[in-house]
Amino acid sequence: MAITRLLIANRGEIALRIHRAAHEMGIETVAVHSTADADAMHVRLADHAVCIGPPAARDSYLNIAAIISAAEVTHADAIHPGYGFLSENAQFAEIVETHGITWIGPKPEHIRTMGDKVEAKRTAGALGLPLVPGSDGAVSDPAIAARIAEEIGYPVIIKAASGGGGRGMKVCNSPDQLETLMQQAGSEAKAAFGDATVYIEKYLGNPRHIEFQVFGDGEGNAIHLGERDCSLQRRHQKVLEEAPSPVISPEERARMGGIVAKAMADMGYRGAGTIEFLWENGEFYFIEMNTRLQVEHPVTEAITGVDLVREQIRIAEGKPLSVTQDDIEFSGHAIECRINAEDSWTFAPSPGLVEMYHAAGGMNVRVDSGLYTGYRIPPYYDSMIAKLIVKGRTREGCIMRLKRALEEMVVAGVKTSIPLHQALMKEPDFIHGDYTIKWLEEWLASRDG
Ligand code: ADP
Repeated sequence: MAITRLLIANRGEIALRIHRAAHEMGIETVAVHSTADADAMHVRLADHAVCIGPPAARDSYLNIAAIISAAEVTHADAIHPGYGFLSENAQFAEIVETHGITWIGPKPEHIRTMGDKVEAKRTAGALGLPLVPGSDGAVSDPAIAARIAEEIGYPVIIKAASGGGGRGMKVCNSPDQLETLMQQAGSEAKAAFGDATVYIEKYLGNPRHIEFQVFGDGEGNAIHLGERDCSLQRRHQKVLEEAPSPVISPEERARMGGIVAKAMADMGYRGAGTIEFLWENGEFYFIEMNTRLQVEHPVTEAITGVDLVREQIRIAEGKPLSVTQDDIEFSGHAIECRINAEDSWTFAPSPGLVEMYHAAGGMNVRVDSGLYTGYRIPPYYDSMIAKLIVKGRTREGCIMRLKRALEEMVVAGVKTSIPLHQALMKEPDFIHGDYTIKWLEEWLASRDG
């Protein structure tokens, strides 16, 4: 069914991103916002806007009743959740659908399955994806845990089934620590997620984080759009992402992409998804699936030319995928820098008044941001204020262009992570694509010392 008025249940750059795709398709938009975001760009650009509550996210952007009411009073016929907030809340997806509103996202049962990491791993294994060796499901008995750890070999990592954001994980180096760390992981998980269930897997020493973008029509057809390398992380938070990965050959991309696309087709997956792997010594190990659009989706758009949000909207309307696997051609190289309102070196948040904003421009430069001169960055939400995405014909050309674009960006009045990205661009390891998930933190520590 054609969508005519889309409510965007999010804020910031991703709300703008969705608004842009909608308007290019002739679809009106409804912004929702907290009182802290009344002057935000996503509210200014939308055709309609509804205030849904006070600043705290739990009272506004996570307030299901307020969002559904906003959709009803504005006669929105679809809801796009963006990323974060309610995007992976299966119950929200169900509530949207029971109100006769089109949910722009995967089937609720798939959101639920992939939201439980033990279930997700089991499902991924059954679909033929390579897994990190580990326990077959949850473990609670320390004796059984010890036997499994012995089998797969130390170090092992204890992870919370309901975990997220890198929380509820403990690395265990030897048998004598296992029981204590299991208890700690369990009680931390209970406190953070209300669920003490944990499982065990092999701790990979120095992997890369490589994820595949997938798309399904919900009817048994699915494609992949290649991989993104998101190994540059601090505290499990991605800092910079690139596509393609410097270490994946076209043959390997086609082979692994084929496996993930087939898995999604077999599952009957609908919409956009990301299959995350750790990659070490040429092997992929599934860690989790995100059943939503990712922050870093623009690097995939840059090298494939496919508008992923447009595709999401089309699928939700019941249309087929607009491209087949054979239509997908990878061209050039793209890098995204996440620009946060924070000190580049201490990472202390730096909200406040943006005295002057100037976005980088020029060929193959994209800036997704709700910033404007005079905007006051509220302290209540994620510190990411802009994404700078640059494309080049080669990785080298992309880095040269990125350096130039970073020089042009001006966000005056607050501290940002632009200096961090500028320093990274000069690092030989980065320039050579020679980094793993450990690299950034080690580099930051070496600068301190
Ligand atoms: P979350 O949902 O909390 O983000 P993930 O399972 O995606 O948890 O893991 C987050 C990060 O933790 C990974 O990107 C990686 O840096 C690290 N990690 C997770 N599992 C392992 C493992 N088996 N070995 C080594 N590092 C891991």
